[in-house]
Amino acid sequence: MSIQSTCEACMRRAVDVIETNDDPVQPYHLCASCHERLHSYALRPIEWYNLASVHTSFKPLLHDDLYDEDGTACQPEVEVVVTKQDKAPSLEDVQSDVQTLLSFAVSRWFVEDDVVHALRRHDVLELFDALKTRYEDTSNADVKARLLEIVADVMNIPAADWIRGLWHDFDVQLLDSLAAATASSLPTEEGLRLVYGQLSKTNPKDLPHLAFLCLNRFQSPDVLDWIELNCDAFDSNWASLAAVSMPTWHRIKTWLKCGRPLSLVALEAMVSCAEGYGGFYVESQAPRILETHLDEIEPVLTEFERNDAVPRVRRQLAIILQNKEGIFT
Ligand SMILES: [Zn+2]
Repeated sequence: MSIQSTCEACMRRAVDVIETNDDPVQPYHLCASCHERLHSYALRPIEWYNLASVHTSFKPLLHDDLYDEDGTACQPEVEVVVTKQDKAPSLEDVQSDVQTLLSFAVSRWFVEDDVVHALRRHDVLELFDALKTRYEDTSNADVKARLLEIVADVMNIPAADWIRGLWHDFDVQLLDSLAAATASSLPTEEGLRLVYGQLSKTNPKDLPHLAFLCLNRFQSPDVLDWIELNCDAFDSNWASLAAVSMPTWHRIKTWLKCGRPLSLVALEAMVSCAEGYGGFYVESQAPRILETHLDEIEPVLTEFERNDAVPRVRRQLAIILQNKEGIFT
């Protein structure tokens, strides 16, 4: 491993301090002035960017409470003097080079569509090579997670063998990112088998949330079978996961008939398909209840209300009936 001799923030002066507060595994190597500004929440935009593009913007001293995404300090304790040379680069500045673009992607709070489109414009093998090298060269789990997210979002990266290899030995905190990359890189059946294997080792109270994070990108009805086997109490995450897993009207009817908890999951899955009710991740996948016999909706829901007429169920039935066009196809 090379010894860092130049300050990672200003990239000009020599390193005076190794700051381990934010991350003892991957500390910041800083000159005395950047170290002082780091602790005064007063880094210049380019200094913030240089750190965030290597360490991510999730670190406590670089976080969005303290800096805007263009590196502007939001609550500095000393004055920040910013000249033209101190500005952080924009997407336009970095997009023509795959390395600078990957650094930019690592620095973002989220990988938004404009960054994904810029990544897709690069030669896919060059991008994959750069991404893989960066993944192997860092010990920073947030950076690794971001790189896996890029594999998932850019979609056409030929990463199957590499992703398959990562399942042999990975940090469990990367599970949801690895699962997302798996959904876009491996055959569905193989990918689901790997994810199910890890989820079976999860603490039951964490399972619904983690299952949603790991399985929502597969958009596979096989996940509905898995929910039937694993859902033993209602949780909204089961409903969100069901909504994005290609549920048919036949499946929904079956779940409504088999009682709680699956009947409540079915009900909330339908509500999640209505505009404004699913939350950001669910709505971004535009879920629908498929192959619906439209003339059956009202009789089936009315029958269900007779058997389980608590106020929450009544409220949800009203939402479903008011939003039929957006929910069922
Ligand atoms: Zn410096």
